[in-house]
Amino acid sequence: AGTLYIVATPIGNLDDLSPRAAAVLSRVAVIAAEDTRHSGRLLQHLGISKPMMALHEHNERDKAGQVLGKLAACQDVALISDAGTPLISDPGFVLVREARARGYRVTPVPGACALISALSAAGLPTDRFLFEGFLPSKSGARRAALDRLVRESATLVFYESPHRIVDTVGDIAEVMGAERELVLARELTKTFETFYAGAAAHVRQTLEADPHGSRGEFVVMVRGASAEELSVGSAEADRVLTLLLTELP
Ligand code: SAM
Repeated sequence: AGTLYIVATPIGNLDDLSPRAAAVLSRVAVIAAEDTRHSGRLLQHLGISKPMMALHEHNERDKAGQVLGKLAACQDVALISDAGTPLISDPGFVLVREARARGYRVTPVPGACALISALSAAGLPTDRFLFEGFLPSKSGARRAALDRLVRESATLVFYESPHRIVDTVGDIAEVMGAERELVLARELTKTFETFYAGAAAHVRQTLEADPHGSRGEFVVMVRGASAEELSVGSAEADRVLTLLLTELP
């Protein structure tokens, strides 16, 4: 049977595509891509011309069947997404799951991933982190999601789109505290790569003051709750509990 290769592509700088990724992409029978036009340009840059099929979140179930058909016919297939590592806030889960369930070989060709790149250079603790993908786009739901994470001690990592970045940073400052340490990684590996770091309220001001501040792609990282913040929380809980116990009959 064929092999399914999960191939990471660059998140900006085309030189980040590994020689192995290029070799695999030239060798497979078919490339399944999120957006065939977008990925067509990358392949053209690499001098690779291959049959492609579109596999995106709206047709993944159908297309997965076609890819499985290729694997059954002993053809190797590569899955790529628009940028970075497939399946990381990108399509591919249904396909990988099905391919594994049927016993096909599924193997990664690692490379760029925005969240790992961002964490590796942010200067926040990396021993434990929680990747939450995209926060909800509406402010109410976003605040509720942040509220559930207020007492998380691991570093938090989110993806965010440029037109929501200012609102999201504002919500973080309000829900998690103006002083909560935040790092934004913007346009990683690209010409205008920028890191914004500091207290949440300060990062928000910096973004608002920078005319290019909310342009480009962002990874948002929040330092987890400190032991101090956690003990304040539990001291409050203790106080409420004591109060309740004295009030109860
Ligand atoms: N699969 C990709 C990966 O491995 O990182 C992520 C795909 S997700 C649909 C796109 C999001 O990733 C963007 O909204 C942004 O949050 C983040 N991202 C992608 N490229 C980036 C870059 N060059 N700099 C900062 N963030 C980036």
